[in-house]
Amino acid sequence: MAEVLDIYQNLLEHFGKLEWWHMERGFTPAEFEVCVGAILTQNTSWSNVEEALELMKSRKLTSPLSIATAKTKDMEEAARPSGFYKQKAERLKMFSDFVMGFGGFRGFSKGVTREQLLGLKGIGPETADSILLYALNMPVFVIDAYTKRVFKRLGILPKGYSRKIAGKTMNDYYAWKRFFESNLPNDTNLYKEFHALIVELAKQHCRKKPVCAGCPLEKGCRKMI
Ligand code: SF4
Repeated sequence: MAEVLDIYQNLLEHFGKLEWWHMERGFTPAEFEVCVGAILTQNTSWSNVEEALELMKSRKLTSPLSIATAKTKDMEEAARPSGFYKQKAERLKMFSDFVMGFGGFRGFSKGVTREQLLGLKGIGPETADSILLYALNMPVFVIDAYTKRVFKRLGILPKGYSRKIAGKTMNDYYAWKRFFESNLPNDTNLYKEFHALIVELAKQHCRKKPVCAGCPLEKGCRKMI
């Protein structure tokens, strides 16, 4: 446990608390913005997501009910800056409809399970876990491409992290998830902060072409690139 926790402490000391997701756009409830962001961010940069969220705000598409009942064309226009906008508009409408099936966000947050989220079209493990962690405050660790890149380069790998499926080597999401969850205290705020810190490190230093000078993890990094 110490090694992974040490990395967290190291990143925290270097970058300070990031406290992601301020949820300031007036979505109802505020946590719903996290769910929308988690769907919009698939295959695009966060700046494009922000543009789409601003458009949704200006068009009052900020609650499960307003999105579920919006015209498809209006939803597509609002989602356009995030790319794959037709697909994302459809997914947002389906997700909002699903939330309304619980009687609204309060019922959704109390009753939804991870399996139910994964059963929705377009919601994979990373999106589901982002929603559970950042919107519903559940202690689940989010694994994304940045996390795998950083920890592979560090030379810290979960057992069975990749396996062959139909001749292709796949990174096993659950091996990574289990690895973090079993090596960290069961602490929602720590999980939130750690994921944000990993993303920050990957953007500033551990890029596709790494910038190791000044990286807070350089000492001890095996640079397995
Ligand atoms: S030292 Fe370089 S390779 Fe290692 S984590 Fe930092 S940026 Fe990535």
